[in-house]
Amino acid sequence: MSTDSLSDRLHTLQRDSAALLQRAVAEYGDVIYSTSLGIEAMVLTDLVYTFAPEIEIFTLDTGRLHPETLDLLDRVERRYKQRITVFYPDTRAIEELVRNNGINGFYLGLEERQACCGVRKVEPFMRAIRGRKAWVTGVRREQSAERAQGEAIAWDERYSMWKISPLLDWTEKDISDYVKAKALPYNPLHDQGFPSIGCAPCTRAVEPGADPRSGRWWWENPESRECGLQPRTRVIPIKPVKQSVT
Ligand code: SF4
Repeated sequence: MSTDSLSDRLHTLQRDSAALLQRAVAEYGDVIYSTSLGIEAMVLTDLVYTFAPEIEIFTLDTGRLHPETLDLLDRVERRYKQRITVFYPDTRAIEELVRNNGINGFYLGLEERQACCGVRKVEPFMRAIRGRKAWVTGVRREQSAERAQGEAIAWDERYSMWKISPLLDWTEKDISDYVKAKALPYNPLHDQGFPSIGCAPCTRAVEPGADPRSGRWWWENPESRECGLQPRTRVIPIKPVKQSVT
């Protein structure tokens, strides 16, 4: 794929990120990437499929995603002519959860919400990464003070795997510029005020300038708003980018 439309800065970022992904493949062989299908994931997916296609990409379908997110998954697969592995929650666990708490039980309280995230997200994710050697993440330095000190390759105690972070030095603007320059597909909900996009009942649009975290699990105490997959960080709002047609 041509990279002629990239600025010098984006060329450099792309080159360095691609080199890191290729080094991870050479060193660990068994590298996976769990795409959230968010805007940074569109950049990482492009880098993986263009420069390190040995890396397997998977995603989680919680059963409560926006239709736009599933459409995006289809568009990404068609653009790259690749199949992204989709992991689903355990059927019996979902049935028991809904029997006990109701179809929208996550609104009842923190315990019920975390139980839902546990069944729909955490268990499938742990099943997907079991036995793997390294995983790719989309963390960036500007997202938090802790991430500012991050290493491109680091041991991840939480999952007992090597963690590869190719976007560490990318800024929010770099992400937006790259998506535009390469006309990458992305979720149209970003243009409707959704800074991050998760399950439909637990994600909402926010006003310009509002705390992006107010768009996730807004009925809870801000300190509890995490799903158990990634430590909580400040979510940076995404500047709208032109929608691509793929
Ligand atoms: S984000 Fe909401 S619907 Fe999705 S798994 Fe968590 S509680 Fe359930």
